[in-house]
Amino acid sequence: MDAIKNRVLKIENEIQKTAKACGRDFRDISLIGVSKKKSVDTIIKGVNAGIKILGENYIQEAVEKIEKIGSIPCDWHFIGHLQSNKAKFAVKYFNLIHTVDTIKLAKEINKKAKKINKIQNILMQVNISEEKSKSGVLAKNSCSFAKEITNFKNISLNGLMCIPEFSYDPEKSRQYFKALFNIKNKIQNTLKIKIKHLSMGMSYDFKIAIQEGATIVRIGTAIFGERK
Ligand SMILES: *Cc1c(COP(=O)(O)O)cnc(C)c1O
Repeated sequence: MDAIKNRVLKIENEIQKTAKACGRDFRDISLIGVSKKKSVDTIIKGVNAGIKILGENYIQEAVEKIEKIGSIPCDWHFIGHLQSNKAKFAVKYFNLIHTVDTIKLAKEINKKAKKINKIQNILMQVNISEEKSKSGVLAKNSCSFAKEITNFKNISLNGLMCIPEFSYDPEKSRQYFKALFNIKNKIQNTLKIKIKHLSMGMSYDFKIAIQEGATIVRIGTAIFGERK
């Protein structure tokens, strides 16, 4: 068996075990194989090993890959920082955009989606550890941001996403995952809307994210190996 297949099976097993141990149904947790900087051959191995969703960070790189292997049976999620002038490509190629963090970007996505008669599924990125270097809506603005988003007819707000401040101790992520969970509840209660997803957890902290309610985990290194 090849290394990628081994790793996918291992991660799937860990997701199941972690979910079970905290009383969750593992089927409520989707695994994204993060394939940025990885070749199409590597991606195909991942899909053959059972990956059903691929995550990409850079529009141009992603479009080239999708054009090459777009017919493979998987969904594509955009998880990188998105500039408004690239919204058109994100809308054309991706099932879910995880990183909507400005109204300007939402407006552009809405416009491009309308043009092709699509309801674009999106997540709001929250800058949960309030790092200056990171994009994302601040926690205190997240309710009003979500409210504005609901005005866009060609966008559907599916949930929230965060990338906590990196630490070598994955336990440090827990407080941020808890905070994102609470923001989701607050938005649901305040706006009387249902939002499904919490996209949180990467190779080193996905188990903690699952314990704190993640419905989507984004895993690159632990599946496809180190990136150059
Ligand atoms: C690269 C990336 C990941 C995957 O990170 P790994 O540590 O390789 O698992 C997840 N989410 C986002 C937003 C990323 O940019």
